[in-house]
Amino acid sequence: MSVLEDARAVDAVGGVCDACLGRVFADRSFGLTNRERGQSLRTVLGLEADEPPEYVDPADCWVCEGYCGEFEVWAERAAEAVEGVEYETYQVGTRAPALIEENERMLREDAGLDADTGEAFKSEFNREVGKRVGQITGTEVDFERPDVQFLLDLAADDVTAGVNSAFVYGRYRKLERDIPQTKWPCSACDGSGMQGREPCEECDGTGFRYPESVEQLTAPVVEDVMDGVGETFHGAGREDVDARMLGTGRPFVIEVAEPRRRDVDTDRLEADINAFAEGKVEVESLRLAEHGMVERVKRHDASKRYSAQVTFDDDVDAESFAEALAELDGATVEQETPNRVDHRRASKVRTREVYDIEGELHDSRTATVEVHGAGGLYIKELISSDEGRTTPSLAGLLGVGAEVTALDVLRVDGEEEPFENEEFFRD
Ligand SMILES: [Zn+2]
Ligand SMILES: [Zn+2]
Repeated sequence: MSVLEDARAVDAVGGVCDACLGRVFADRSFGLTNRERGQSLRTVLGLEADEPPEYVDPADCWVCEGYCGEFEVWAERAAEAVEGVEYETYQVGTRAPALIEENERMLREDAGLDADTGEAFKSEFNREVGKRVGQITGTEVDFERPDVQFLLDLAADDVTAGVNSAFVYGRYRKLERDIPQTKWPCSACDGSGMQGREPCEECDGTGFRYPESVEQLTAPVVEDVMDGVGETFHGAGREDVDARMLGTGRPFVIEVAEPRRRDVDTDRLEADINAFAEGKVEVESLRLAEHGMVERVKRHDASKRYSAQVTFDDDVDAESFAEALAELDGATVEQETPNRVDHRRASKVRTREVYDIEGELHDSRTATVEVHGAGGLYIKELISSDEGRTTPSLAGLLGVGAEVTALDVLRVDGEEEPFENEEFFRD
């Protein structure tokens, strides 16, 4: 059958608006709206029959029950639902009444066509309302990860707007020891701060094992500036609580839930965070990031450079110290899961490379050792041997007990390429 014959059959069912007629032929002639398709077909049918075409107002249409005349109204409702929220991209979803979907099938079957010929009402509604939302608000459709997700529930006569998270990338330095990277709830009271009716003695009622974290010293400022309702801190790995993070800092992403502001001035944000953290933590290189940056900082392979203060149980001379370091330089190290690591974690042997190691013996009992190693290399154990669980180690090679008394991370760098890949930034 030709398009025109099919159109005549659909038109003959009667009482169908132009959009509902045109939607049956939505896979024909791109660039037209379904309403334009329906109107054109009716015009040609009228010409053929030499009778005035009978256009049907959507308000009188039994298929869409008037919804095809309400695109503008729903678009305005969607725009109102996010008034005061800053966003650049959106997506529209429609929950169509079951009755309309049934009407669509009936129309096609009555006209002798397949029940799913053309386009579904829901798709047209998404597109037509979506187009108008863009025109009203000056924003753009994004089918992958929009800032705002509208849901038009026609049967419930309701419009909801889900606001997706915003992301800020940066690098942090932790200038004081004994600060964890993220919030560390007190295990004695499960973070509640209470034991029964009394304040928890373990944490003085704070609910936290450590009163501050890099997260708590940075993320609340971002959450506040973006006017969100929650935050999550994502780090590119984490240093030990007692280690400082110095040098060029560690990459991180702060995620803010349901932000009302997205396009924030990152230079100002940086200054605000640094003032708030009072020199315990510093951030730099802040940029607005895409959602994909979270996976990037969490998964990207990175090498680390450390500086360790080391003390020995017995005297060490310069020659054997130098020999031991030469032995470790470029070595592949086997490490069993360290004793200090959570015992619930299954023990296994891992191999990690020492890219570069150098050191300075201050006196026969103390030294500074600087190590550049692959991600996951345990530095404290590389020095101490962890009771023989790490080989080779500095203590093992010297035959003298050795311990890290202070550890600083100096650099965290991507192995293959830098963390800062432009495709993950928004600005
Ligand atoms: Zn209709
Ligand atoms: Zn507690």
